[in-house]
Amino acid sequence: MKRYVIDYGDIITPPYGGPPGKPLPDVDLTEDEIAGVVEDLVLGKKPKKTDSPFNTLKARVSMRHDMLTRVWERQFVNVARDRFEADKRKLLSLLRAQQKAAKEAKATIDWQAIYAGWMTYLDGAGNEWRKAFIPVIKGLILDHGEALNLEFGMTFEVANLFAQEWFDTYTFRFAEDVIATTGAALQSMLKTAQAEGWSIPVMQKRLELMFTQWMEGGLTAEEFDWFEERMPKYRTEMIARSETIRASNKGADALYGAWGVEWKEWVSGLDVEPEGRTCVPCFALNGKRFPVGAVVSCDGVEFTKGAIWNFQDEEGKTHTIKFDYETVTGPPLHPQCRCSWVPWMERWGESQ
Ligand SMILES: [Zn+2]
Repeated sequence: MKRYVIDYGDIITPPYGGPPGKPLPDVDLTEDEIAGVVEDLVLGKKPKKTDSPFNTLKARVSMRHDMLTRVWERQFVNVARDRFEADKRKLLSLLRAQQKAAKEAKATIDWQAIYAGWMTYLDGAGNEWRKAFIPVIKGLILDHGEALNLEFGMTFEVANLFAQEWFDTYTFRFAEDVIATTGAALQSMLKTAQAEGWSIPVMQKRLELMFTQWMEGGLTAEEFDWFEERMPKYRTEMIARSETIRASNKGADALYGAWGVEWKEWVSGLDVEPEGRTCVPCFALNGKRFPVGAVVSCDGVEFTKGAIWNFQDEEGKTHTIKFDYETVTGPPLHPQCRCSWVPWMERWGESQ
C-alpha cells in the first residue's frame, strides 16, 4: 500500500517538538488512514455541525493531539524498553548469585531467598522507572501545552504545571503500577517454580521469555503454557500508548485550569486504525462537557476508582468497564484510547 509521510513541521511548534538534540521522527500513515482522519476531522463526520468555528477548532486540536502523542509514543517505547532491560538484567543476576550460593553450600535452591532479593530490588526499581519517564512525560506535556497556548492565544508557562500536586501523584502512581504488575508476575512464577521444582536454568529461560514478551510482544500463548496466569501482555506498547494519552490530557486539564477556563469537552479518538474505531467505549463520551478538573461521568455513573460502567456500542451491544486503575479525570478510558480534552467556553459555542 502506498504510504504518505506527514510533515509535522508546522503542526508541532518549536522550541519543543521532541527531546533536545533529537529531530522529530516522521510518522507515516497509509492513504486510508489519512482519508479516515480527514473524513473524521476535516469534513466533520463526528463534529455535529461542520460550519461551527468551535468544531473546526476542536478538529484541529484533536488531530494535533493525536499526531503529537503518536510521535512521542516512540520515545515512551524506548524508555520502557530500557527500564525492562535493566530490570531483567538485575533479576537474572540475583538469580545467578543465589545459584552460586546454593552450589557452594551444597544446598537446594532457596526460592524464598530469591523472592526476597527480587522484591527488595523492585522496591527501588519503581523510582528508576519514575525518574526515567519524567523527561518524556514533561516533553510531551510541554509540546502539547505550547501548541494549545498558541492555538488559543494564551501565554501560560507550561513548565509551571510540573510543580502542581497532580504531576507527582501521576508519576508516582504510574511507577507503582508498573512495579506492582512486574512483582505479581514474578511472584506467580516463583510459586510455580517452587511447586514444580524448576531448576535455575529453567527459571532463567522463562524469566527471559517473560521480559521478551513485555518488551517486544509477539510471543504465543503456547510459549507461556508454564505460566499460571493469562498470557503476559506486550507491556512496552501498552505503557507507551496509555501514558502518552494520560500525560497529555492530564497536562491539558491542568493547563485549562491555569488559563481560568471552566469547561472541557471530550473528543473521541480517531478512526484511523485498520481494525476500525479505536475508542468504542468513548463513543458515549464524545462531545460531553465536564468542569475542568472534574471526575468523568456518564449515564449517571461517576468514574471513581472501583466504579463499574455498562455501556452500549454503536451496534447496541452492551459492554462493561471496571475502573480499577484510578479515578478517571480524562482519557485514556481503556487501553488503546486516543481521546483528548478540548477547552470549551461559551463564546466558542456552536451558535457562533
Ligand atoms: Zn477513548
